[in-house]
Amino acid sequence: MYENERKQLIAKLSQSGIKDISVLKAMFNVERHLFVPEAMIQHAYKDVALPIGFGQTISQPFTVAFMSQALKIKAGAKVLEIGTGSGYQAAVLAKMGMKVYSIERQFDIYQMTLKLLDELQIRVFCKWGDGTIGWDEFAPYDAIIVTAGSPSVPAALQKQLQMGAKLVIPVGDKNSQTLKIITRIDESNFDVEESPDFSFVPLIGREGWKE
Ligand code: SAM
Repeated sequence: MYENERKQLIAKLSQSGIKDISVLKAMFNVERHLFVPEAMIQHAYKDVALPIGFGQTISQPFTVAFMSQALKIKAGAKVLEIGTGSGYQAAVLAKMGMKVYSIERQFDIYQMTLKLLDELQIRVFCKWGDGTIGWDEFAPYDAIIVTAGSPSVPAALQKQLQMGAKLVIPVGDKNSQTLKIITRIDESNFDVEESPDFSFVPLIGREGWKE
């Protein structure tokens, strides 16, 4: 279903600078309309963020593509996502062949998405909790992606990065953020690239915004 709509979306993403074929392929194969509430299905293949209930959103497709591409990972990589939300970003990474661990803070969303991913037989290791402290048990990760806006870079996430791996995280105020692409060079050195003008819901937790 909606194959033409997905084709058009992928063409648009490609024109907007998304060149990673594995990202484009995965986004063609993941049916975004299954990750949005029924009332939003008609908008599922527009390049916009959409409400998923509980005051949260599914990210804009361009943002999902841009962040997935920025991780610079190959199939088989172990990726930690903070902010499972609808499960769409996690599903795209899983379709790219990654081993995905994902943490969601809101219990209702966690439960709803766990059920959906299970029904769709998309393998993602989900956890309910505060992602600002990471998921130490399975660290280090080949990449970490944070899909909520943070006031600063949580130290725990930097610590849980493999050497050479990237952490992609929106940092700024509650309305607008700069996407930081942080590469771990060695034990204590990190390289940072920045891309401005993103807008995410807040990352709330011990090393994020306070409620
Ligand atoms: N990746 C999601 C998707 O594909 O639909 C989009 C996520 S939505 C923009 C951000 C999510 O981060 C929300 O579901 C929110 O509850 C969650 N969140 C906020 N703070 C968090 C935290 N400290 N740990 C884990 N999840 C958090």
